[in-house]
Amino acid sequence: MTQETGGFAALDLHPSIVAAVIATGYEEPSAIQQQSIPIILAGHDMIGQAQTGTGKTAAFALPILHRIDPSKREPQALILAPTRELALQVATAFETYAKQMPGVTVVAVYGGAPMGPQLKAIRNGAQIVVATPGRLCDHLRRDEKVLATVNHLVLDEADEMLKLGFMDDLEVIFKAMPETRQTVLFSATLPQSIRAIAERHLRDPKHVKIQTKTQTVTAIEQAHLMVHADQKVSAVLRLLEVEEFDALIAFVRTKQATLDLASALEAKGYKAAALNGDIAQNQRERVIDSLKDGRLDIVVATDVAARGLDVPRITHVFNVDMPYDPESYVHRIGRTGRAGREGRALLLVTPRERRMLQVIERVTGQKVAEVRLPNAQAVLDARIKKLTNSLAPLVADAEATHGDLLDRLTADIGCSPRALAAALLRKATNGQALTLEAVEKEQPLVPTSAPRGDRPAGERSERGERERRAPMPLGEGRARCRTALGARDGIAAKNLLGAILNEGGLAREAIGRIQVRDSFSLVELPEDGLEKLLTKLKDTRVAGKQLKLRRYRED
Ligand code: AMP
Repeated sequence: MTQETGGFAALDLHPSIVAAVIATGYEEPSAIQQQSIPIILAGHDMIGQAQTGTGKTAAFALPILHRIDPSKREPQALILAPTRELALQVATAFETYAKQMPGVTVVAVYGGAPMGPQLKAIRNGAQIVVATPGRLCDHLRRDEKVLATVNHLVLDEADEMLKLGFMDDLEVIFKAMPETRQTVLFSATLPQSIRAIAERHLRDPKHVKIQTKTQTVTAIEQAHLMVHADQKVSAVLRLLEVEEFDALIAFVRTKQATLDLASALEAKGYKAAALNGDIAQNQRERVIDSLKDGRLDIVVATDVAARGLDVPRITHVFNVDMPYDPESYVHRIGRTGRAGREGRALLLVTPRERRMLQVIERVTGQKVAEVRLPNAQAVLDARIKKLTNSLAPLVADAEATHGDLLDRLTADIGCSPRALAAALLRKATNGQALTLEAVEKEQPLVPTSAPRGDRPAGERSERGERERRAPMPLGEGRARCRTALGARDGIAAKNLLGAILNEGGLAREAIGRIQVRDSFSLVELPEDGLEKLLTKLKDTRVAGKQLKLRRYRED
């Protein structure tokens, strides 16, 4: 075990939970996790002030998994979330952290899907229920005893739930649960309405708030870019084309992400390496020395691994994954702008993380301007500029050294010097796209336009997000299926395709579009014979993990 994973090991969580967390690639607990986990483990009620991006889900999921009894097949913990999307995310997170706890099952309960299977899963003994309040109340109307055994309740994004008008539903749910339960409330803001709920329904709660001191950031030009999680790597590749950097450090959250991004960069010809907590000290020093002397230009690191890294060559910091708190943001971007030089810091923000961006702006007292993904024209201009810069110094004495050869070759081939120069350029640029049309073809990335300002709450933003990235219409005779494996499990579309082809015995044409997102993937399969196929794939594993493919129903 590396020194950093000791951070989780020191929290007194069950070893199978620590093992799952480490397998997920987390190196150390975030601030909110560090503070909340001992309180929840000790059985206290708690109010946590934290927004998406701080690691709040694991802050409650890990201690709750520790506190349930997997041998009891009945609901023991209820997590309420404002939207279906968040409920699914939280359920997936629980599944990930419970991977090494046999017998633990999680059910997500939300509107727009049939009630029968949800109720069945609860009755079949799912210990963890993640629900939106409206749908849970529908279940309570059918069976008022459904929550009678639940002794841990988490209200996630409580302020959003109230904004969506779930107050009355919450009261119904509180009444349906044992009074002796433990209640944990997470909210980004604590308006009077939330404090009133806490007053009525929490017992002597402990408060956890991540302290945010004002920080100063100088000489660093900051910008952010809105991007969907599954497009981060392509966005980084495109940004690198136009950013004029000397050395660059890219921050991500997990070990796996350091490896994935570093290899994507290497594949594009960048001199890049990963730096994470698994890398031995001597190797780490080698990476840093290489970055210092130019053998490397890009290092992809986790916060832990980049600690103490001081390389004056660094002109750019890319925050590919959001930092957990403003302090670590300031810390990260402080890697550039060393010794009074100018630096540039870029932050990728997914739609759900907009609020974290606002917190960073407040704490640093600076606006982090929005930039758009460079378009094809900008990419083309940057490529031509690079080519110009690389050729210009060679022109000066080239005629003296190679002029005669040029004359001879043009004569031998029987072509003009222009034709020969063009052929040499084609060779030198080695298939790189250097016309607008070719660049456009090569860059199918969908730009995300992001309205700024207050994030519209809950369902509304969920719907907006869904519209922007609405799944492609389903092909005729096809059904969409979902697996909880996604990019963060190291899955690529080709892995899913391979597994389904091999184990399902399907022809390639039978499989439609495969969409790999960060925490789940969608696959289009033939409707005809689907149930049989899913049974066949029951024990299929991809990248060492159970595929668990299920039919996915949209509204
Ligand atoms: P949340 O704030 O709960 O929405 O979490 C934001 C993201 O951080 C999720 O993608 C988590 O998988 C990830 N995450 C949470 N805790 C950690 C940790 N200790 N180390 C690395 N990543 C984490």
